[in-house]
Amino acid sequence: MKRKRGQFDFDVAIIGGGSGGFAAARTAAGAGLNTIVVEGGEEVGGLCILRGCMPTKALLYAAEVKHLAEHAKTWGVRAGKVSFDFAKVMARKNAQIKDFADYRVQQLKAGKFKFIRANARFLDAHTVALNSLRGSGRKSAPFNQSRLTSAATISAKNFVIATGSRLAPSPLPLFDDVGFITSDDALTLKRLPKSLIILGGGAVACEFAQFFARFGVKVTLIQRSGHILKEFDTDAGTEIEKVFRREGIQIFTGTKLLDAKRKGKLKTVSFDQSGKTISISAEEILFALGRIPNTATLNLENAGVKTENGRIIANSKMQTSAPHIFAAGDCTGPHEIVHIAIHQGEVAAHNIVNPKLRQTDYRLLISVMFTEPQVAFVGLTEKAAAARGIKFLAASYPFNDHGKSLIMEAKDGFVKLLCDPKPGEILGGSCVGPLGGELIHEVVAAMAKRMTVRELAAMPHYHPTLAEIWTYPAEELAEQIPAKK
Ligand SMILES: Cc1cc2nc3c(=O)[nH]c(=O)nc-3n(C[C@H](O)[C@H](O)[C@H](O)COP(=O)(O)OP(=O)(O)OC[C@H]3O[C@@H](n4cnc5c(N)ncnc54)[C@H](O)[C@@H]3O)c2cc1C
Repeated sequence: MKRKRGQFDFDVAIIGGGSGGFAAARTAAGAGLNTIVVEGGEEVGGLCILRGCMPTKALLYAAEVKHLAEHAKTWGVRAGKVSFDFAKVMARKNAQIKDFADYRVQQLKAGKFKFIRANARFLDAHTVALNSLRGSGRKSAPFNQSRLTSAATISAKNFVIATGSRLAPSPLPLFDDVGFITSDDALTLKRLPKSLIILGGGAVACEFAQFFARFGVKVTLIQRSGHILKEFDTDAGTEIEKVFRREGIQIFTGTKLLDAKRKGKLKTVSFDQSGKTISISAEEILFALGRIPNTATLNLENAGVKTENGRIIANSKMQTSAPHIFAAGDCTGPHEIVHIAIHQGEVAAHNIVNPKLRQTDYRLLISVMFTEPQVAFVGLTEKAAAARGIKFLAASYPFNDHGKSLIMEAKDGFVKLLCDPKPGEILGGSCVGPLGGELIHEVVAAMAKRMTVRELAAMPHYHPTLAEIWTYPAEELAEQIPAKK
């Protein structure tokens, strides 16, 4: 590229305007760097807003309202026969997503950094080619002025790659012939299928399973590992399996997919479970087995950026194998969730600005699944602590013996605390229960301040609240910790 040595169009170019890219741009521009964000999506907003966190939670909340109305008689309330209008359920979700996306558009257009819409690919370590978007002009009115009409290039001293993830290919090629829907498709359905096979047992699979089941779809969940939610402790997976079965969801765990066929209007999946071949038929198959890093078209080899199975390899400072190029979010992992993408984006931008490099910190890693009961953890699970050889004490308390949850008839689940056996510092917390995703933040705050179980137990908790349930395992553990002299 023709440019004077050391002269670049921008101090930093950020590729991808989702959660990670936006966080990096805000931080870099806030520190006074001449920053550009290049966003190549058909729509602007990123995965979380458009097809991830927000639309799924909007749908799950609708399912929760319906479920509560159907069970109103528990509290002596007559709600009559509960019915629903699926088109309206989807329309409300769509309207909310539009609002969230419009707000993100405003933030990106606020003028703090330059924002253009194009697909970027590296020509060399400091230059990217910008290709105009396919279907130019659709769904993008606010950005027409900044859309590229032909290929162009920009150079930058530093880059942050934040290109997110894309849907993983199907597990067996024959699924492509049989046909299936993905989480993206599930969010735009015009009508509900009568029956649905869900492949996968992670958070996305479980959230969709409960949403569809609560709206009357006959759901079968097929999972390869021995329990659903394998990143959580087994007690969490077991509790959700119990609730799902009670709600009519059929679950098969410890399976190996063998075959898929289509006959008439039905699709059949065959799998092995403990040496037995089982076949399940349904109107549709939802493939929820995950996503892969979105890096294939970036020509990373031209920039000297190394990958492993498509994932950009980055150190704890979010620096790639090319030290002036950083990565953030789902394209690098290892935890594909929003607060981590934001943290990594901020760390990357900070490290471009400051000579004193900052490191990512996953000590307070949070994970939440928004089913009912919700499932959440922060810090260490028992499984993770054991795998890392970390000594801990653990204590749990069930929601079926707690005042506020009994009032709410929310008797499934438990809370669990893990602490260091000597000083009693809290190492992790889990919650399977009502509003678990909210309740877990008490433990996040306690861990952020490196509190001990004794300090948590001594903290005032208003009665009767769900939150006071944390005091029971905290007290139980505090009794086992040697007192300070
Ligand atoms: C169904 C579902 C539910 C989820 N629920 C949750 C949840 O409840 N909580 C949670 O924390 N996480 C959830 N997630 C995960 C979360 O959405 C992601 O971890 C997060 O959005 C990733 O942010 P990101 O910035 O890395 O990527 P993205 O938001 O995907 O942003 C990447 C951007 O890069 C752009 N891009 C890609 N290639 C190029 C290119 N070559 N040039 C220019 N631009 C490019 C894309 O268009 C995109 O806008 C969910 C995911 C799914 C699929």
